[in-house]
Amino acid sequence: MRKSKFTLHYTVMLLQIICLLSPAFAIAGQFNLLHTINEGISGKSCDVTLKYCVEQKCKIPFRKVRSGIQSAYAFFGKLGYTEKFPVTIVFKPEVNVDWSSGDDKKSIRVLGKYDEEEKTIYLTCWRDKWISGRNDFDLDMTYEFYRTIVAHEMIHFLANRFSKSRVNSILSEYIAYSGQIELLPEETVRLLVEKYKVQPFEESEIGEYLFVMDPGVFGLKSYLHYKNSKGLLVKQILDGSVMEPPNSWPPY
Ligand SMILES: [Zn+2]
Repeated sequence: MRKSKFTLHYTVMLLQIICLLSPAFAIAGQFNLLHTINEGISGKSCDVTLKYCVEQKCKIPFRKVRSGIQSAYAFFGKLGYTEKFPVTIVFKPEVNVDWSSGDDKKSIRVLGKYDEEEKTIYLTCWRDKWISGRNDFDLDMTYEFYRTIVAHEMIHFLANRFSKSRVNSILSEYIAYSGQIELLPEETVRLLVEKYKVQPFEESEIGEYLFVMDPGVFGLKSYLHYKNSKGLLVKQILDGSVMEPPNSWPPY
């Protein structure tokens, strides 16, 4: 039972990737701009603009949002990438992605997504019945977990800023999940790896197939590979020496 739950929720998390493929969403006129803040991400410098757009009646744990952004910068900082970039985050009561497979088209609710066309992060407000009932990675939806979602989406944004060209969506997920899972307590990650018997990726395995079949396992395997390789693949993706997932299934 727990296992199927795990897979189900990962399937929903997987759809965060669709943000990279989904059509642009119009912002103008739909949101109250509550905050445009010039604010030091580290608390020491003031070179980053955070623009928060918030729909009415939307509660936001701003401290956790800022912490998630800092964590994303820290993830890249360890690899030598330290530049700061302005970013826009739009908070909405409900964030959806359009999903289509053949004739089957649907809109699916997600916690967050990143849209590279708009260079905008969309996050679900805190916190209604739907978000309270989530338990991605078998974990309760806490402020702390919300922070990791912010970091995940921010890493998508930053990966595209630090790279020489637009990052392939599956490779972007490899990076985002590595950074997100690194924020979970070590003991939690160890228990998840044991419970689901996850091995680190062999580099040749990294590709869309596992991401589609089981994004949770994809995320854990990515993290383990990232740790074992000391972030080498992330650097190769950002410097353009790896531009496609090593595993090319399905062949397009
Ligand atoms: Zn993602």
